[in-house]
Amino acid sequence: MNMTQETLEKIKKSIKHAMKSPFYQKHFEGISVRDIGSEDDFLKLPFTEKEDLRSTYPLGLCAVPDEKIVRIHSSSGTTGVPVIIPYTQKDVHDWALMFKRCYETAGVTPNDRVHITPGYGLWTAGIGFQLGAELLGAMTIPMGPGNTDKQIKMMIDLQSTVLTATSSYALLLAEEIEKRGVKSKIHLKKALIGSERWGDKMRKRIANELGVLLYDIYGLTEIYGPGIGISCNHACGMHMWTDYLFYEIIDPHTGHRVDEGQVGELVITTLVKEGAPLIRYRTHDLTREIPGACPCGNPYPRIDTLIGRSDDMVKVKGVMIYPGKIDEMLAALDGVSSEYQVMIDHLNGKDIVTLFFETPVKGDDAIKALVETVQSAFKEKIGITAKIMPVGMGELPRSEKKTTRVFDNRY
Ligand SMILES: [Zn+2]
Repeated sequence: MNMTQETLEKIKKSIKHAMKSPFYQKHFEGISVRDIGSEDDFLKLPFTEKEDLRSTYPLGLCAVPDEKIVRIHSSSGTTGVPVIIPYTQKDVHDWALMFKRCYETAGVTPNDRVHITPGYGLWTAGIGFQLGAELLGAMTIPMGPGNTDKQIKMMIDLQSTVLTATSSYALLLAEEIEKRGVKSKIHLKKALIGSERWGDKMRKRIANELGVLLYDIYGLTEIYGPGIGISCNHACGMHMWTDYLFYEIIDPHTGHRVDEGQVGELVITTLVKEGAPLIRYRTHDLTREIPGACPCGNPYPRIDTLIGRSDDMVKVKGVMIYPGKIDEMLAALDGVSSEYQVMIDHLNGKDIVTLFFETPVKGDDAIKALVETVQSAFKEKIGITAKIMPVGMGELPRSEKKTTRVFDNRY
């Protein structure tokens, strides 16, 4: 996004404030905050990584005296040490204000009944959905996750009109409602779904089976939590609340800004956060800025639905390859299942890309034709030539954990 003079002033203030935390005193050692007078100066500041935040566990991020902190949240530590984020009363209130704005953007009103299934506790999700809906004046139903029987009973008896959930839980609920044949008793009109990379097929299934309009809500624990941006009725990207944050889209390999509209990694700077201000925080979420004004009239700039994680992205012959784009390409082709793997190898001085995918198609001629179709689609959509290797259904390895689809064997 463009940096206005007003934003620059807010950023300067935020950096000055961040320097009160033990973390930034060390991270920005040798940098004089007074010397940051322009956008170019700002761009010279080092990024902040999640690993950096872990190194300052538990409260090294805190930029205010202890008595100002009213709450902590923590991001899940799948790789060990969690990240602790302290909030002041103002931070908690600002987050609720942003969340209220999300509900308003989705057309939720005080007449709605908001069914909240994300978890409560150290995780930021549930309580964020809760406080924003309360501030709006809607009736909240703080369910938390799990216990599908009770979820559906409450949804019917209390006539919930808005569902808030992760995409996978929304799909599970949709399937259970279908299975029990109670769809006619469900009053849902809208669903606010925590944004992650999820395909169009899943989106359509949830929307159809629940009979709702879907809204993508964005956020991460390190920056308040969910609710810092949301899609509108036009479903063309998520409006970001840029009075509370400044964002950049960078090339994850070089750290430089990408051209407007190009895909890159989202980097966020908080503008008014007190407890744990963050400067140039790398989210590792891949997206792009959507140029121009939104037809809905909302003046806040938009980023696209998340395309994937920059950690999953690889560069081959100068071309960025990321799973989201391959998913999209394969989903548009007949005879190709959603299970695939991409191998990148370095042989005889050349990078070789091989795409394996599962297909129910049988017969030599049919397979030959399919390979040609996939080959030209890959060249057209991804931008490089790949060796195409179809395999039978169920032949690619499955993993319990998040399936890795792109393997870089070059290094
Ligand atoms: Zn809009």
